Amino acid sequence: MNYFNLPKIDLHCHLDGSVRPQTIIDLAQEQSIPLPSQDINEINSLMIAPETCQNLEEYLMRFDLPLSVMQTEAGIERISFELFEDAAKENVKYFEVRFGPQLHQQQGLSFKQIISSVVKGMQRAEAMYDIRGNYILSILRTFPKDNINAVIDAGAEFLGKGVAAFDLAGAELPGFCHEFIPYAKYAKEKGYHITIHAGEQGVGQNVYDAVSLLNAERVGHGIHITGHQGAYDLVKQHNIGLETCPSSNIQTKAVDKLSEHPVKAFYQDNLPITINTDNRTVSNTTMTDEVRKVMEEFNLSREDYFNIYKISIEQAFASDEVKQHLMQFAE
Ligand SMILES: [Zn+2]
Repeated sequence: MNYFNLPKIDLHCHLDGSVRPQTIIDLAQEQSIPLPSQDINEINSLMIAPETCQNLEEYLMRFDLPLSVMQTEAGIERISFELFEDAAKENVKYFEVRFGPQLHQQQGLSFKQIISSVVKGMQRAEAMYDIRGNYILSILRTFPKDNINAVIDAGAEFLGKGVAAFDLAGAELPGFCHEFIPYAKYAKEKGYHITIHAGEQGVGQNVYDAVSLLNAERVGHGIHITGHQGAYDLVKQHNIGLETCPSSNIQTKAVDKLSEHPVKAFYQDNLPITINTDNRTVSNTTMTDEVRKVMEEFNLSREDYFNIYKISIEQAFASDEVKQHLMQFAE
């Protein structure tokens, strides 16, 4: 099967984990930021996580370098444009990219400037290529909480105009949802969709909490519902989208190897699974690669692929008009 030519939908991808290495070199030069090397291969290797990391924290260290050049409006706009361009060039027809506005204030940008820059970059790519998209605002779970509502307020101006959802990301501790109830509620009241990273690092209860306490419509990863019947049943009952990211799950040791990934079992039990990249540079992957890996490992057919494509449309935080557009590519 020609995986490159298949129409694809990516609903879980982090902007700062998906930066072209050459762009880091260019932007560092423009912004007079010292780099550990000018060699593109070395910059690349500093960003790509090993095939298996010791833990999620080791994986997350790979984001420091890209973030250093993502502190100006021009830098952020360019990186957003290039990510959508790269995705469009491998037939991704709809793309939800997420990022943490709190990570881009090192040089004093306002949340409005930061969010407006990612949206501008996306819109520039949408005008040039056959791709549609939305941004998801990720709040870092380990950061101080005093400016979360300011992020939500700044992003609310862009709802329906490039921003679609609220997310919680970063290291996953058991029971984290309890601390974020008022923020998720506030985001929902403002009109955000809700997706939450949960069940990536071994705690199925976090998925249960994300749905029942935070009103999550989708969860990032969610693989550990396998060990928690209550969470599994809740996901099934409420048709909660599971944003599966196979390569990333192996790198962070969420699963030992792809053959042990529960994605096929979920699919066979009619859970709404989607296939996504998580981090294109850090995980050294593309949608073409992720789709190929999952389909080959689990012997999925073309019909299975288009079932998953349609689940992704259903689960997308896109307008009805965009969903109709995406249906044209379905078989
Ligand atoms: Zn993620």
